[in-house]
Amino acid sequence: MKISHIEHLGIAVKSIEEALPYYEKVLGLKCYNIEEVADQKVKTAFLKVGDVKLELLEPTSEDSTIAKYIEKRGEGIHHLAFAVEDGVANALQEMEAAGIRLIDKAPRPGAEKLNIAFLHPKSTQGILTELCEPGQ
Ligand code: ZN
Repeated sequence: MKISHIEHLGIAVKSIEEALPYYEKVLGLKCYNIEEVADQKVKTAFLKVGDVKLELLEPTSEDSTIAKYIEKRGEGIHHLAFAVEDGVANALQEMEAAGIRLIDKAPRPGAEKLNIAFLHPKSTQGILTELCEPGQ
């Protein structure tokens, strides 16, 4: 697996509407895309910080994994996403062979037209890790 860069940081928020003024007015960043990912029961908002993005994640349903995360741990950094150059499917195979627990056995569509897959935080030093590649 070849990681090219950090694609984004995922941040769990209760409400994008309530969180955005901090990012935009206080930090001076600009939200350039808001998008719902029905599959993951989240609404996402994207801001750019140099080449790295921040992905705000708001649950759209009580049984969303983000809703459960906020319930247990509060708002905050939820995951770290690496862009991989040689394909998410290949990376997953490599990770599985290395004994890393996979949440996704195969890439699936994510926000921002990416193909994504998650690795389990129990296998990744406590950080929910997303691998992504341009897709769709
Ligand atoms: Zn993400």
